[in-house]
Amino acid sequence: MKALALFSGGLDSSLAIKIIQAQKIQILALNFLTPFSALENRRKVEQIARELGVNLQIEFLGEEYLEIVKHPKYGYGKHLNPCLDCRILMLKKAKEVMEKINASFVITGEVVGQRPMSQYKSALQLVERESGLKELIVRPLSAKLLTPTIPEKNGWIDRNSLFGIYGRARREQIELARQWKIKHYFSPAGGCLLTDPAFSQKISDLLAHNQFSLESIELLRLGRHFRLSPSAKLVVGRNKRENEQMLQRKREKEIYFRPVGAKGPVAVGQGEFNPSLISLAVQIIAHYCNMDLVDIEYRTSDRKEKIRSRAMEEKEIERFRVIKDESI
Ligand code: SF4
Repeated sequence: MKALALFSGGLDSSLAIKIIQAQKIQILALNFLTPFSALENRRKVEQIARELGVNLQIEFLGEEYLEIVKHPKYGYGKHLNPCLDCRILMLKKAKEVMEKINASFVITGEVVGQRPMSQYKSALQLVERESGLKELIVRPLSAKLLTPTIPEKNGWIDRNSLFGIYGRARREQIELARQWKIKHYFSPAGGCLLTDPAFSQKISDLLAHNQFSLESIELLRLGRHFRLSPSAKLVVGRNKRENEQMLQRKREKEIYFRPVGAKGPVAVGQGEFNPSLISLAVQIIAHYCNMDLVDIEYRTSDRKEKIRSRAMEEKEIERFRVIKDESI
């Protein structure tokens, strides 16, 4: 008997795997990367899966994930996190993988009443219905609070060995982790940038200006963000690492700026830039060079030019910031 586990690398999904593994069920762990996942988590997910003794499959959700962030059928959580739509999409994908590998059911680490949006009983039922996995999702941590599923009814797994954990307190999970010697896991809800307030402001700006694409989202992880016009945005590096990452980008439709003969940030322009917007961009970049007058080189896919510019005053810069209280 084989099962597929939705696996975030968090404690709950690790425990769900342990509970079902103890019933001699073979498990494949399925982890999803979205454009908003914390990238540094990837290697750690692989390590945690190894420690649990399960094979791991990582799936990337790209354009279709952007669609649910743009138009979530069931709305957003506190920020721009469309948790219900996200769970439905992940479980739909899980169903495809389950069928492909001939697994008989799916397990998740969901705990009834733990998260405001996606883990109330009604939400769990909705997600189950919409994903096409009715009665085939086992939540080992809360199963005793839920209607028996097909694997339980058919005796593939023993319902008595499952748990009835409810709510946000994590005492029981911590105790189970101690018993099973699980030491490495991600903190709850860690790793999804959609729940981050500053990140959500940057996404709102892209959505409002029709610039919500995989390429512009990549840049949300870097730099200070400035809205120069409805169709032009500037991202200015904050440190050496970000400057280097920006210099490595080679996107046909972007403009790359950097100071010449002065120390200062690299910047990327996305959207439509006319000469007056280029002049605005170089004044902002010059501000971060700590000189009154700076030469800034900019290059597009077909030309390279240099402009001498004065630095913009801080109070003037404020008008263009996407995040108004962003530190300078
Ligand atoms: S927190 Fe992020 S990854 Fe988790 S369910 Fe919500 S939208 Fe999806």
